[in-house]
Amino acid sequence: MPTSGRKLTIIDAHTHLFPPEVAKDPSAFISRDAWFAETHSKQGTEFPDASDLIRSMDDAGIAVSVVAAWPWKSPDLCSRHNDFLADAISKSDGRLVWLGIVNPTKYGAADEVRRCASMGAHGVGELNANAQGFLWDSLSELQGFVEACVAESLPILAHVSEPVGHVYPGKGTATPERFVRFAEAFTELSIVAAHWGGGLPFYELMPEVAEDLRHVWYDSAASSYLYEHRVAGIVESLVGAKRILWGSDYPVLRQKRFLKRFLEQVSADGAAATTSGNALSVYQIDLPGDDS
Ligand SMILES: [Zn+2]
Repeated sequence: MPTSGRKLTIIDAHTHLFPPEVAKDPSAFISRDAWFAETHSKQGTEFPDASDLIRSMDDAGIAVSVVAAWPWKSPDLCSRHNDFLADAISKSDGRLVWLGIVNPTKYGAADEVRRCASMGAHGVGELNANAQGFLWDSLSELQGFVEACVAESLPILAHVSEPVGHVYPGKGTATPERFVRFAEAFTELSIVAAHWGGGLPFYELMPEVAEDLRHVWYDSAASSYLYEHRVAGIVESLVGAKRILWGSDYPVLRQKRFLKRFLEQVSADGAAATTSGNALSVYQIDLPGDDS
């Protein structure tokens, strides 16, 4: 817990928003996308809009949120989500930045990466192998997509999940064993591995793994659903505060409550890096009102 009186600037590095047509009629998208159906079929699923997110940020003292798109399988749905985010985020006075979504092995993926960059995206994600029908270790299929991201200086946010533990909607099989082959193959790409990288930080105790993963960061999205709260301090001890981004997975977790719990676990020295410094540099964010 930070002990100094200095107020932290907070960035939530992992949130999601859906276009209004999805919020209005989720069933139309449940029938079109199997992964969306698996994760959003429950009655009462809420689809907050940008103003709901900003209210939540104000309540929690969050300066900026990184809004990721949904990993649609259809390139057409990906493009529509990108159009929505480019527009919605441009009206947020710098409080929100966005990540575009692309199906990385489908025809036109590299073009859509370039289009996202031209519309102001700060990265690509949240990519999801199960949802989008690819394998993280199908390296040749992913190469064109990766090259486009590197050329545009866009990092990716990747959904990575645990090879063990309870099953839940959206868990998938993108486990560290597969994901690490991707990360080791494309060292010029900046990668944020969501959900603590499915446990990958533990293997960074192996020197050769740590050496290969210097371009990988880990975020804390949905952590309360997966791990004991002390996971944040433990991952900090494994990989260091410079490699961790605080992210809630809003609306999956409430920002204010999860932020408090996270700050209780990371070191006083690591608080600023994990809750803003790393997100600022990985996602190349300018803070609102900061013209320097
Ligand atoms: Zn995820």
